[in-house]
Amino acid sequence: DKIDGAALLNFEIRPTANPTPETERAAKLSNLGFGQVFTDHMAVVRYSTAKGWHSARVESRAAFALDPATAVLHYAQEIFEGLKAYKRDDGGVNLFRPDANARRFWNSAERMAMAPLPEHVFIEAVEQLVRIDHDWIPGGEGSLYLRPFMIANEVFLGVKPSAEYIFAVIASPVGSYFKGGPAPVSIWVSENFTRAAIGGTGAVKCGGNYAASLRAQAEAIEHSCDQVVFLDALERRYVEELGGMNIFFVFDDGSLLTPPLGTILPGITRDSIIKLAREAGREVREDTYSIEQWRADAASGKLKEAFACGTAAVISPIGKVRSPHGDFQINGGAAGPVATGLRKQLVDIQYGRAADPHEWIRKV
Ligand code: PMP
Repeated sequence: DKIDGAALLNFEIRPTANPTPETERAAKLSNLGFGQVFTDHMAVVRYSTAKGWHSARVESRAAFALDPATAVLHYAQEIFEGLKAYKRDDGGVNLFRPDANARRFWNSAERMAMAPLPEHVFIEAVEQLVRIDHDWIPGGEGSLYLRPFMIANEVFLGVKPSAEYIFAVIASPVGSYFKGGPAPVSIWVSENFTRAAIGGTGAVKCGGNYAASLRAQAEAIEHSCDQVVFLDALERRYVEELGGMNIFFVFDDGSLLTPPLGTILPGITRDSIIKLAREAGREVREDTYSIEQWRADAASGKLKEAFACGTAAVISPIGKVRSPHGDFQINGGAAGPVATGLRKQLVDIQYGRAADPHEWIRKV
């Protein structure tokens, strides 16, 4: 019933008394990387077992004061999401499948024994923040990256689900990931580290998964690779996903393959690509694919393309794979037509330049 009470939740809007001056904002927007520039506001909703979800606000972006015994600082009860707002040519704003992020956030909360946030409150928080920080959405191929997250903030050192949570959304204007089209990335096959085991947390978006991936990502960089690809934890053979992206393979018969759900994050880009490719008449299998098979198919020419996908970079062609067992290239290390075509199709929907038959776009 506390969750039902959230149906009545109204956001109190408290605009900042110190907005960033327009010239300063313009300077920041003209030089965007990823996740370094932040908007003026944040949305915050609080939870306690006694009160349920309450105190929904949009307010000045500011630091949280956390007691040193706050639960999240010790046992990592934390989850997050990532989605983007896109500025259309007509000046309006599109969110891409925010309902899917809200649902995944709910699933993440349940897996981490946290209070699930009603999906409409998640979407409302995101929309309110986009509205108040509208001037921070970059034009052109940029977008506003939205980061909803939830932390356990009960002050208690016992190992148990927290009785209090803070849900918040912050926003960061980001530039085009790839200027002049997607550049192929090189990836390192992690043989020493795995990401997720059956029954673990691989299928949800909790901060701990990313902490555990950093050592493998560092190994990738030591081997001059952009990203790491993880293999399954049981047999250490089957390709799972990258540190922050799902993966697809494209074969000479035009079909696609992507690893099945279970221990990987159910990517919203992944799901969208499966639907678009199937509608275009391509066969898409959700099936296991071993690193040996990948190497053999790249050598024989059966494999035409491989690409990674996710909200941040949309689609990144994979040009080169490195592993302790030797390196190999895909499509001569170049971006292939299937990845490039799907990327354009998706980006055109996101920016409102193409029809939206699936009702993926939510206008703000
Ligand atoms: N896998 C992992 C581990 C990720 O962090 C992400 C980014 N959220 C993805 C896949 C891609 O998911 P999405 O398409 O929903 O961004």
